[in-house]
Amino acid sequence: MIFAANFKTNHTRVTTREYIESLSSMLENGDTDQEVFVFPPSTALDSFDAPIVVGTQNAYTAQNGAFTGEIGLDQLDEFGIKTILIGHSERREVLGETQEIVAKKFAFFKEQGFKIIYCIGEPLEIREQGDQAVVEYLMAQFDGIDTEYEDMILAYEPIWAIGTGRSATVEEIASTHKALRATISRPILYGGSAKPANIKEIISIDNVDGVLVGSASLDATNFYSMITS
Ligand code: PEP
Repeated sequence: MIFAANFKTNHTRVTTREYIESLSSMLENGDTDQEVFVFPPSTALDSFDAPIVVGTQNAYTAQNGAFTGEIGLDQLDEFGIKTILIGHSERREVLGETQEIVAKKFAFFKEQGFKIIYCIGEPLEIREQGDQAVVEYLMAQFDGIDTEYEDMILAYEPIWAIGTGRSATVEEIASTHKALRATISRPILYGGSAKPANIKEIISIDNVDGVLVGSASLDATNFYSMITS
């Protein structure tokens, strides 16, 4: 199983290091063989000696250059970062990334050999229209994306379930992942209010290969309890 922690705009450089040291020691002492990723804010990116893959939540499609406020390959290479989140709904909805921008980013980081956690998800008004509408909406988020890229992990994250405390139901996750599996042979994560109380149920659903976790990942002990659930 894959367990990925998305810190978003939480944690500092100091608390990220403390978190990674603490989670690493729990993982090393706990004899677990799950695959663990952590995506700290870009100010906290660093080289860590840990049984954890540290990735970036975002980066610009350039080696370096005049892109105020962005980071590029030079800044990632410094710490050996080769993993990126692309297409997260907060970047699409809050920061205005269109499918065109997302697809360009995917192509660039694929070309650079990055592992890409590619996020897709529907808003509530689409979910309320039923399974068929959801699948059509999600398929449009594959426009311009090489869905056969061998270093892609897909994350299905219904927007209405992110940070709301309301996870999708087992039936909603099962039917959506089953539909996605028809197109995607890579691992498929679920994301959206996954937490210690529902993690066992979520990871036992067919075609769920792990979880992408926001709020419940911010505390290392909490996240570790999910990993070992
Ligand atoms: C996320 O933003 O990727 C996420 C799944 O957040 P949360 O777990 O807080 O819903």
